[in-house]
Amino acid sequence: MSTFKHKPSTHGPSTEIVHSKPVSAKGFSALPVPVYRGSSTFFENTAAQRATVNPIGLDYSYGLHGNPTQYTLAKKLAEIEGATHTLVCPSGLTAIALVAQACLKSGDHWLIPENVYGPVQALARSLHADYGVEFSEYDPCDVDTVASALQSNTKLVWTEAPGSLTFEVPDLQAIVSLAKAHGARTGIDNTWAAGIAYKPFEHGFDFSVQALTKYQCGHADVLMGAVLSNNTKAFADLERRNRILGLGVSPADCDLILRGLLTLPLRYQRQAESGLVVAKALKQHPAVARVLHPEFPECPGHAFYKRDFNGFASVFSVILNAEYTDEQACAIIDRLELFKIAYSWGGPESLGLVVNIPDSRKRHLADANGQCGPILRLAIGLEDSADLIADLMQALDAATESQHP
Ligand SMILES: *Cc1c(COP(=O)(O)O)cnc(C)c1O
Repeated sequence: MSTFKHKPSTHGPSTEIVHSKPVSAKGFSALPVPVYRGSSTFFENTAAQRATVNPIGLDYSYGLHGNPTQYTLAKKLAEIEGATHTLVCPSGLTAIALVAQACLKSGDHWLIPENVYGPVQALARSLHADYGVEFSEYDPCDVDTVASALQSNTKLVWTEAPGSLTFEVPDLQAIVSLAKAHGARTGIDNTWAAGIAYKPFEHGFDFSVQALTKYQCGHADVLMGAVLSNNTKAFADLERRNRILGLGVSPADCDLILRGLLTLPLRYQRQAESGLVVAKALKQHPAVARVLHPEFPECPGHAFYKRDFNGFASVFSVILNAEYTDEQACAIIDRLELFKIAYSWGGPESLGLVVNIPDSRKRHLADANGQCGPILRLAIGLEDSADLIADLMQALDAATESQHP
């Protein structure tokens, strides 16, 4: 309820509407940060306008470069992960592309793991074909392949832990020290750990990337990414690239991520626990050859996971017995009632997909006969795990019955 005194104006009605002052926020205090919208952000005077040329910092010069909602999100992400700098950007993939473009120019070389998030391979191929940036892939389970792939022009070593779809955990400590000894910058896709379960800056990384789209959002309704760093020079290169490309994020989207962050640790842990219960139940099913989850000792790199991580996500993969076809794997996913068929993860609903990886990547995953069956990736949401298990069992039982009537 509000009552206002009417003051006759000397301006016309259109001027009055544009220039009337907002009410004071004095005396109002609450947890949420307001959604600060504004493309033009006003300067006190010309001197203040001319002074905002510093490319890094909390300057309010233009809406594209930041507002208090965005900077509050950036600050909280830095606090969670122990970084000194944060850049928020339109998606997780943008975040990775920015790191690559901040570190690499024509004639430079970078390393990516062969189990990297798929679109990063496309990025590497495109930077090579269009801009002459070289890249090599290494085996995340074999540090020697990192050592042998390093070249005199290697400027960036990219890592992901665990790897997309197959969840191998690399020896991050060894990779970082090899890269550092070589003078290359290092970056990690830390989406799986959500900035919580692995702390890249305690291990010497220059950049950490998170797809905020996943757990930080948590409600499957925003796309956003972040790059964190505590290397001021490296971050300045990143910030410059971001400005050149003219990237920005919506303050309303930042507000939704800020809201998601309040429950991030709770959701992450609950979904992780639930996911592990589901993963253990799946191991018992006769149609399942193997469950790829870093918590299990048979997961490649389990010892590194135990050494470096203090938590885990609720996304993992299941390898069916090699006697099952891709068609039967699709039928299992199609039979699920509670799982939606969709990309992404970290939201309230459980998701499932049949995923394809090249044969060359299956050598760490094959059974005793050297075979690897179809792979299902599951992302566990906030539902009750018993219901999810019952759903998966009915779908797997139906597949087993059709295989062994
Ligand atoms: C989803 C995801 C990304 C990309 O995030 P978007 O916001 O969807 O662009 C990057 N890395 C990993 C590991 C992801 O799961």
